[in-house]
Formats: sequence, C-alpha cells, structure tokens
Amino acid sequence: YNHVYGKGKWKDFDQKDLLLSYNALKVLEARYLLKDPNTLRYIETPQMMFRRVAKFLSNVEKIYGKSEEEIHHIEEKFYEKMSELKFLPNTPTLMNSGTRLGILSACFVLPVKDSMTTSQGDGIYDTLRAMALVHQQGGGTGFDFSELRPKGDIVASTAGVASGPVSFMKIFDVSTDVVKQGGKRRGANMGVMHVWHSDIEDFIHAKTGQLKDVQLQNFNISVGVYDYFMDKVEKGEEVPLITPRKTKIPGTDHDYYIVKARNYMNEEWVQEEILSELEEKGSVYLDESKIVTVDEALYIAEKEGAIIRWINARTIFDEIVKGAWDGGDPGLLFIDEINRRHPVWYLGKIQATNPCGEEPLLSWESCNLGSINLEKFVKGEEKVYVDWDGLADTIKYAVRLLDNVIDANRYPLKQVEDGTKRTRKVGLGVMGLARMLIKLGIPYDSVDAVYFSYQLSKFIYYHAFKASIELAREKGSFPAYDPTRYREIWDSSRPFDYLLSVTGINETPSTRIKELTKIVDSLDFSALKKDRITFGLRNSTVVSIAPTGTISIIAGTSSSIEPLFALAFIRNVAVGKFMEIDPLFLDYLRRYELDNSEVVKKVAETGTVAENPFMPSTIRKLFRTAHEVSPEFHVLHQAAWQQWNDSGTSKTINLRTEEPPETVEKVYMIAWKLGIKGITIYRDKSKSQQVIYFGIKK
Ligand code: ADP
Repeated sequence: YNHVYGKGKWKDFDQKDLLLSYNALKVLEARYLLKDPNTLRYIETPQMMFRRVAKFLSNVEKIYGKSEEEIHHIEEKFYEKMSELKFLPNTPTLMNSGTRLGILSACFVLPVKDSMTTSQGDGIYDTLRAMALVHQQGGGTGFDFSELRPKGDIVASTAGVASGPVSFMKIFDVSTDVVKQGGKRRGANMGVMHVWHSDIEDFIHAKTGQLKDVQLQNFNISVGVYDYFMDKVEKGEEVPLITPRKTKIPGTDHDYYIVKARNYMNEEWVQEEILSELEEKGSVYLDESKIVTVDEALYIAEKEGAIIRWINARTIFDEIVKGAWDGGDPGLLFIDEINRRHPVWYLGKIQATNPCGEEPLLSWESCNLGSINLEKFVKGEEKVYVDWDGLADTIKYAVRLLDNVIDANRYPLKQVEDGTKRTRKVGLGVMGLARMLIKLGIPYDSVDAVYFSYQLSKFIYYHAFKASIELAREKGSFPAYDPTRYREIWDSSRPFDYLLSVTGINETPSTRIKELTKIVDSLDFSALKKDRITFGLRNSTVVSIAPTGTISIIAGTSSSIEPLFALAFIRNVAVGKFMEIDPLFLDYLRRYELDNSEVVKKVAETGTVAENPFMPSTIRKLFRTAHEVSPEFHVLHQAAWQQWNDSGTSKTINLRTEEPPETVEKVYMIAWKLGIKGITIYRDKSKSQQVIYFGIKK
C-alpha cells in the first residue's frame, strides 16, 4: 500500500474494506454483490451491500411511526455492526434485501398432508410448489413426512396401492435439483419421519448402503424419536409401528387415543395441549380419567387396527446408528425435548426442523437468522478480556434488525406470512467461538471451554430476550403471545454440573474462567420474567445456533460453535477451490518464530499439529482441530449452547474415519440425556463428496 499510494495514504481509504479477507471477497463477488442484469457488471461494492441491507431494514421502522432522525440512527447502527463484521444476517437477507427477490429468511417448515392437494394448500403437490418458491430465493425447507400412508396401503380413489413417503421424498429431491436458486445456492431440505411410522425402516435406509451418495442428495434426514422410544432402546423392549392412515376418526375419543399412541407422547404436555384444544372447541370435555397412559392408548390403537407390527426398539436404533456411521444420515430429532422447551407450546406440536436443525418450527412458520462474530469481542493485548458491553450493544441491534426482517420480508405464500407473523420467531446465533477461545487461551476440548460456552450463551440469551421485551414495549408483542401460557425456557435449562455428570467428566472449571465470566452470574432472570409479564415480548423465540456456512467466510472467522476444522485445508465451494491457512495460527507461529514456509508447508500436509512433537505445547493444545476433539467435548459444547437457546443448536459431531459404530451409538444416547434437540454426526471420508478436505495433500 505504501508503495502504491504513498506512505500512510492508504489509511485514508475505507478501513472497513480492509477487514474483508480474500476468501470473503471471492464469496461476495461470486454470490452476493448485485450485478446489472443486462450487462452483468457489478453495481455494488461490499460496503454498498452492507449499506443496502442497513437502509432497507431500518426503513421499515416507518411503519411504527419513527422519525427520520431515529431511522437514520438505526440505519447507522445496523451498518456499523455489519461493516465491522460484528454481526451478519443470514444469506438471503444479505442477497435479497432491497432487490426484486423478497425472501429474507433461511428457514422454513412446510406441512405435508396425506393427499395430492387440499383446499388449505398442504397436500403433497401443494407443498412441492411451496418448496420450489422458497428454494428459488435461497431459503431451506423442512418437512415431516409421517402423515403419509405407508407403502402398499390402499388408495381409495384409484383402488391402487400407495408408494409410501420415501418415494414422495424423491420427487421433492428432484425438484430441488431443478430449482437451482438462480445459480447461487443448491437447495437444502430436512426430511423427518417419526419413529412410530410403519415405513420407518425404508426411511432409515434411504441414504445408506448402495443408496449412499445416490438418493436424496438434497436432503438431510432425521428420525423423530421420543423419550418413550429411547427408554425402550435402553431396556431392549418392543415398540409398535403404526400406520398414520388409521387415525382419521375426527371428533371421537378413539382418534385421540391413536394419535397419542402414535406420538408416544409425553404426559405433561399432552394434557395441556389436549385440554387447550378442547377449550377452543368449547364442546367436548375430556375429564381427568380419560387422560390415559401411553400403554392404554396403545391398547386402543391395537384394537382399532392401527398397529401394523411390533419391533424391538433396539433393532431400529441399531439401524439408525449403522446408517449414520455409514454416511452421516439419519440424525435424530428429540421430539419431546423440542416441544417441552418450545415457549409457545400452546400453538401445537412441532414435528420438524429446517435443514440444519437449528430451527424447530410449526408448519408454515419461517425464521430469519443472524450471527454475532464472537472473535470481535476479545479485547486487550497483554491481558485479554471479553468486551461484554460491546457484545450486549451488538445483541440489542441484532435483535432489532432480525425483527425488522419479519416486516421487510416478502413471503412466498400467504400461509407462510401468517404463520411467521403470528409468532415472529427470530434466531440470533454466533460464529467464531473456536477463535474466540484461542484468543482467550482456552483449548476447545477443556472443561473451561464448555463452561465458557455455557456462560456466554446465557449472557447472549439474557440480552436477546431483554431486547425483545424492549421491542415489545415499543412496537407490541407477537400476536400469539399469551402472558400466562408462555413458557420460559430457563425454568428447564440444565445446570452446568449436570452436563458434566452425564459425560462422566470429573473436573471443575478453573478460577480464571469463573473470574472471566463472573458478570453472567449477576444476571437476574426473575426480574426479566417480571418485565416480560409487564411489557410483553416481541418474538416468541430469539436465539438459534446456525451453522453459518457462508457468512462465517464473509466474516473471516470459524463457523458457528465448531472447533477449527483444519489449520490449512482446501475448501470446495460452488465457485471453486480455495486453499486456506488459518491466520490466527500463523500469528502463533510468528510468536515462536516458526512462520517460515517450510513449517507452514509441513503443517498443511495434514492440516493439524496436535501430533507434531516439534511444535510448542501451547500451540498443540490450543489448535486442536475437529477430529482431535473427542466426541464428548463436541457434544458438551452443543449441550451448553442448547441450555440457553429457545430454538435449536446446529452442530456436526465430527468423528475420525476409524471410529466404530459404537461411538455413534454413545453420542446419540448422551445427546438425548444432555437435552439436545437434534443430533448429527459425520465420520470423516464416509461420503464420496465432502465440502472440506483435510490438508492439501489429497
Ligand atoms: P449462511 O451462512 O449462508 O447464512 P447457514 O450455513 O448458517 O447459512 O445455514 C442457515 C440455514 O440456511 C440452514 O439451516 C438452511 O435452512 C438454510 N440454507 C443453508 N444453505 C442453504 C442452501 N444451499 N439452500 C437452501 N437453504 C440453505
């Protein structure tokens, strides 16, 4: 710079552009910066993009009667947070704000009813159309296919036989391939089937064995499991497989019993759910004595012919584990946990999530996400510390921005607009956790790091919730808000010690880490609850931990709450291959005068240094990568972030290629006990194509 522009002169240029790394610029150029549709010339720079988003999203404040001056102030705050890379909204918001395309949210869940089309627009082909509209503009979709009748079942109108849920999923998959999202993103889906469905084995095997790398390539698949089922797995007892078709006996008690049997429902919330439903109908009253146990419900279901057969829960679980070990699918969704900790549980039962699992949503709901770049909040040279005030300020404006997205969004369908505006869910997440920990000198796979995650997520949740209360004071609560029935998630957040006890780790956090995070211990959640009751709440959920696949590249940090993947690696993305060497790692090499090309080249061969006896031990401990971190620590971080989160936590439990299926089994079991809402593993090299490869020697 000095050479080209004169000494010191380059500093006159916008410093903010200099924050963007080469990879960030490549990604922005390839997919985000606007082009003139006729000439294909770029018509904006990165700073102009941030300005476009800030302007568009602050402008909706007009609806709420804000003055020009107030709006200008908000715009500047939004711009500042994004351009300093402290916070970024999810990809569709960055791409589509202020453009002809109107979808700004990343996550959608759509219903699939057992019919070709319906007047409510939730039949199989209605949903297929809805999916195409969402994909076209960069959103991801999730579906529960459990309502579809099993393979071989009769189809009354044609006297034929049904082809079953998996065959319909294939149509969704092909459609996803065809709609390429304007060439910018490949579509992504989550397909869910609940474990009681009589086609569950077909579903579990849909992406394994010979079908791996072939079938349903645009789907992540997850089995919806219940506490009842998991208990039976532990005991090695039988569970029923049930057809969904036998439950259409509207208005009768039998209907209720079978639905209950099907869902192996958790007693506590069934009662509330059923009672509130009956209250709404105002006609029937189900007295206490009719609230039956799961076993009684199963007895009735059997009598009605709804149970196709019984199978050992262990057999199903083993098949799930084998599939996941073989190719990453299926994952698990813990349906009881999801619904127990759904703040607006009274609106119905959640059956599915978006593609990466961070958003359990009701049918027709959508959610927009955004993530804070944690790395930016480590301050200090000699003595490093966390800038809690700066973090709180960023959270406040991030929640406002995300809430504005709901008003600025142009929804692909009326049902999605209604579903979304009813609950106004937003998902504030994080990226750069691994790098934040390194800067603080805390190894990712340590009890201190998990404690830090636990405290940090608590801080973020507190401030996001507070921001949403303040917005409610200003603009009103979400329409479905019910002050008495709304359920605070912190009433059921598990204590930190419990998390450790499940994994059998017998160690306590250090005094240094307690000191570093002691501000969190003074947060008063009961005062927060009082404020909610007095002033209301703007958003039914506020937090969600997304994978930040692309926005973390733009921010130049590690993704989400994941450990570093490799210190040097090749990244395969739609626009080409990138070789990357972690700049933080280079910094450390410099400290030890090891930043020469020979050392770097050597490290890049494997991507790691943990096993390298010539590396200083500080570097070896701090720079442990995803496959060196034990599965327990992966899961513990996910569990820590889930305790202070009213949505879900997306995380990949990365396993080494040589891990046996027993490791997968252990991870899935522990995840259930830790109160995680959904779990996915990925064993290195288990698929023919993976996005990131280790090292540069392939
Ligand atoms: P980003 O970093 O691009 O904002 P994330 O990796 O955090 O996105 O993913 C967030 C959510 O966005 C996913 O869970 C999914 O719902 C949606 N999503 C991600 N990638 C795609 C894609 N290729 N197509 C459709 N939706 C996607």
